[in-house]
Amino acid sequence: MRSRFTVLTFLVSAFVCIAARSAAPGKDNSPWWGHIKTLASDDFQGRLTGSPGYRKAADYVAGVFEREGLKPAGTAGYFQNVEFEVQTIQTAASRVMLKSAQAAPVDVSDDLVLSPGIQQRKTTAAPLVFAGYGIHLPEEGYDDFAGLDVRGAVVVFLVGGPDSIAGAHRAHAVAEVLPHYLEKSGAVGVIQVASPKNREVPWARQKAAGTQPGMVLAEKNLRRYQGLMFGASFDESKAQVLFAGSGKSFADIVALADAHQPLPHLKLVPQIDAHVEAVVTPLTSVNVVGELPGSDPTLAAEAVVLSAHLDHLGTGKPDHGNGIFHGAMDDASGIATLLETARMFHTSKAKPRRSVVFLAVCAEEKGLLGSRYFAAHPSSHAGHLIADINSDMFLPLYPLRDVVGFGADESSLGDVARSVAAQAGVRLVPDPQPDHLVFVRSDQYNFVRKGTPAIMLQMTPKANTTEEATYKQWFSERYHGQADDLEQPVDIAAAEAYTKLVYQLALKVADEPAVPQWKKSSFFAKFAAQPLP
Ligand SMILES: [Zn+2]
Repeated sequence: MRSRFTVLTFLVSAFVCIAARSAAPGKDNSPWWGHIKTLASDDFQGRLTGSPGYRKAADYVAGVFEREGLKPAGTAGYFQNVEFEVQTIQTAASRVMLKSAQAAPVDVSDDLVLSPGIQQRKTTAAPLVFAGYGIHLPEEGYDDFAGLDVRGAVVVFLVGGPDSIAGAHRAHAVAEVLPHYLEKSGAVGVIQVASPKNREVPWARQKAAGTQPGMVLAEKNLRRYQGLMFGASFDESKAQVLFAGSGKSFADIVALADAHQPLPHLKLVPQIDAHVEAVVTPLTSVNVVGELPGSDPTLAAEAVVLSAHLDHLGTGKPDHGNGIFHGAMDDASGIATLLETARMFHTSKAKPRRSVVFLAVCAEEKGLLGSRYFAAHPSSHAGHLIADINSDMFLPLYPLRDVVGFGADESSLGDVARSVAAQAGVRLVPDPQPDHLVFVRSDQYNFVRKGTPAIMLQMTPKANTTEEATYKQWFSERYHGQADDLEQPVDIAAAEAYTKLVYQLALKVADEPAVPQWKKSSFFAKFAAQPLP
């Protein structure tokens, strides 16, 4: 997941730095920041999966793992090879038209981004069907597809969900259930539209990112879509054209969605006529895996995973500086926490009873693919991974006080996290933005799919304060932008306190007599009995 200091705040913090130079942790004397300074520097060229910059970053992480006394736990030393197919869409040679009997054809090629991570059909001529939020959870009493025939159709849906379904379940419905349902029911494509309220990245930037090549895992049964689909995201400011003549306006639908009301389902008037040119090539990249063996002869067979993603977006057309997507917060910050946690275990001489697996994954930005591969083929402690604690863009932009624990309500791991946090004076608070579907948007989700309780902690701003403004500005100005760089203001003390919290949580979970358990009420508990592929 993948912005904004007022001049006044900046001046105040500059003054504080001068006044307390020797005591306050700053970028210059923080080992946590030191890793980011390396990984987010120009030398690493934005760490695109499979690129020389990524490989250099993987070597750096392996070097720190070795220095901190971790055992190699990949398939080749610290590395686990992951095979991909890369899809590069030839935008100039691709075309998407809307056609209807009532009006002249409309060329919408410029109003959408063809999904590079879905293996695209070459030609698609199909009716459009609007399926509300695209949520198919009949067991929860909610089905946007009830009575809707989508065979041979391209399904349009709005990202979000009704109040009656918890954020984590909505997230699962869109990420996991929808692709299977669409393929099973014979749909030939999918178009997603964001509600303007939920937009994190300006459309122009999302569009620029969409011109990058996409990836799927070479192993077919690990893909979200097994076959070919037409796939696109549509610019919500242009989305009315999809609803022309349907009797519903896009604005009406957005108003319902913003109020978390159920949405109508309808056949849309235009047909889609798409031609997509794409080039597909093979690629190999790596996850980096190190292990701290447990001290208890029996419990050492079980392992707690600490994960973060090492990849970012590489380079692009310069829009801020030199064209490099540095990914300082996304997710060099999480990798720095991983490496610092390894150092804390090393220097504290703590001897956790269970093993701890340190995992730096590739291709998170390409659809959580490196972690998906690892979860399907663990190179360490296969079948005995008892928990995952993931760090992705935890955003230390202000003091550490409130933290959202994504997944915290689903398993006893949340209770452990709550007590460890409380001892550090930190509160675990509910997710204020369930529509952003964060739970399925980072690597912890691939452990959940396999039945392993997981949690991701992210710092959250105090509502209605300058912190909230800072947080929002960070997303609009820096998230997945070239301004996620080394120059941005960061609260180093908060980052170090967060890292300590991750360390203490890992140690506690590794030492506790009981293994984390899913809550009986959790929607995700069923994956412990029946893991997903
Ligand atoms: Zn990201």
